[in-house]
Amino acid sequence: MVSYYDKNKELVKQRTKDWQRDNPDKVKEYNSDPINIEKKKEYVKNNPNKRKQTLDNYYAKNKELCNERNRLNYQKNRESYLLKAKLKLENQRNRLYDILGGKKCVKCGYVGLALNFEHINNDGAQDRKIIGNSKKQLYYYLNHPEEAKQKLQVYCANCNWEKELTLRSSQS
Ligand SMILES: [Zn+2]
Repeated sequence: MVSYYDKNKELVKQRTKDWQRDNPDKVKEYNSDPINIEKKKEYVKNNPNKRKQTLDNYYAKNKELCNERNRLNYQKNRESYLLKAKLKLENQRNRLYDILGGKKCVKCGYVGLALNFEHINNDGAQDRKIIGNSKKQLYYYLNHPEEAKQKLQVYCANCNWEKELTLRSSQS
């Protein structure tokens, strides 16, 4: 037998919506009850696709509102976002240093802040063209550590500059 709910799904949904609209306090109370929060969490965990679908639908219907909210959120938390991004970048750089044998110039042994990743075969321009800017290269080489070891080395600014000058004088 088809249940009342199945037969009148849309009607029930609409009535629930109307009721929720007319009783915001009760909805609030229901939503802040720890038992219901747990239930909701459990439901979301068990129905990840449904949850995503709901969010996608909501976004499609309220695109401008969502974008505006995101923009305000970003503005409000700009500093913490930027700090997080900075920490992430630093963490990624450290991981690449680890892959390449540590935070130390392989030529002169310098340890300090003026270190960088240097293209052994001077193909940095090609990497920029194919992979992209330094952030994209960082991401790429973290995911291709063997290639990183073949193509990159840790150099200090001084050795980097010296190599550049030597290269230039040999070309002219
Ligand atoms: Zn050096």
